[in-house]
Amino acid sequence: MVRHFARLAEKNHHVDRAIYPLGSCTMKYNPRVNEDVAALEGLAGVHPEVEGEYAQGAIAMMYHLGRFLAEISGMDAVSLQPPAGASGELVGMLMVRAYHADRGDQRKTVIVPDSAHGTNPASVALAGYCTMEVASGPDGRIDVDELRREVDGDTAAVMITNPNTLGVFETRIQEIIDVVHEAGALAYLDGANLNASLGIARSGDAGFDIMHFNLHKTFSAPHGGGGPGSGPVGVKAHLTKYLPYPLASRDEAKAEGYEYFMDYDRPKSIGKVHAVYGNFLVMAKAYAYILTLGPEGLRRVAENAVLNANYLQALLEPHYELPYKGYCQHEFVLSATRQKEEHGVRALDIAKRLLDYGVHAPTIYFPLIVKEALMIEPTETESRESLDRFAEAMIAIARESEETPELVTGAPTSTPVGRMDEACAARELDVCSWDGDREE
Ligand SMILES: *Cc1c(COP(=O)(O)O)cnc(C)c1O
Repeated sequence: MVRHFARLAEKNHHVDRAIYPLGSCTMKYNPRVNEDVAALEGLAGVHPEVEGEYAQGAIAMMYHLGRFLAEISGMDAVSLQPPAGASGELVGMLMVRAYHADRGDQRKTVIVPDSAHGTNPASVALAGYCTMEVASGPDGRIDVDELRREVDGDTAAVMITNPNTLGVFETRIQEIIDVVHEAGALAYLDGANLNASLGIARSGDAGFDIMHFNLHKTFSAPHGGGGPGSGPVGVKAHLTKYLPYPLASRDEAKAEGYEYFMDYDRPKSIGKVHAVYGNFLVMAKAYAYILTLGPEGLRRVAENAVLNANYLQALLEPHYELPYKGYCQHEFVLSATRQKEEHGVRALDIAKRLLDYGVHAPTIYFPLIVKEALMIEPTETESRESLDRFAEAMIAIARESEETPELVTGAPTSTPVGRMDEACAARELDVCSWDGDREE
């Protein structure tokens, strides 16, 4: 039995085997100590409905995790309830709605840059707003003049990712936020790229009103297999009253006889967004991770993540087109247009061929504004040796694309399953009736 499952596990790529450089996803190594903490009887075994008096440790952990995230981001209060980044975005947009409604202000639009993650406009639409797109300039940054033209009395908020999905830092962020605030709108930060700025820059100091965190990216909870995530949302003081209820809170005077409690008395709250308190054991892993590293360690995460990405970018720039030049943050985006135009090799083919070299492919075809995009995020947990191995594979594939392109377009050949018909998988959802070996 053990051998059977060990063999099955080896058929998949995983972060314990080799680099997993999916851009925007932050597939870092997840320290095993986090799993040990999450498995502690007092955390794994506590019933969510137990009276607060008997769950002081669990509530205290949530309270202090919220305080850590507030300190890391420069926000004033944090709700841990949303179960993913996308869910955090929706919570953020619903709070934007509640904020304007309270002021009797009917606003209609949310501005989102064209480099944004697809969840941003989706969350905007779910919250009942229309998305207005703002273009990126030739340097990959928001075109501030265009933003000025778009922002008006109908603008409810702007959603910004910083560093953005091109791995570029929005150097004019202060000015952007001022433009937004002058129009009475709110500034939302998509914090999925926090791995680049942990301990270095704080969104709250830049003037953002709301942000979400992806604990399963930045704070090392395993993800990618459809498992639970956690997308806490932080806000500045003027928005605290809208956060989802209940909120893990502290009463140092112990009026009820105990210190930590779940605060349900939040009349302005947008409501509940998840069963009980959110994905509690993911919070436990993030809490353990933050305590293990401490402030210095968190800062080194960001420094090494940025260093690793720049090292790889420098190794790969001679072999692939780099549309946005200059130092990157924690990730960078290459383009396979040269390989496609000259040899008929697409980004998808390069991604598949990487599997034959024993490494996971980067994110491809995102962000949408880069043709044949290969979006690479090594994370801080890769050694120089593993970065070199990845670069060697990418360089070998660039050479193969010129000399033997059919090797690349026919890949993968060494995996248990070869090139898949991905459209079929999406269109014929009933896998049970599939006979397994059709000709087309
Ligand atoms: C991952 C990601 C999201 C969505 O987060 P989920 O936790 O996957 O829902 C949003 N924006 C960016 C930039 C991301 O990388």
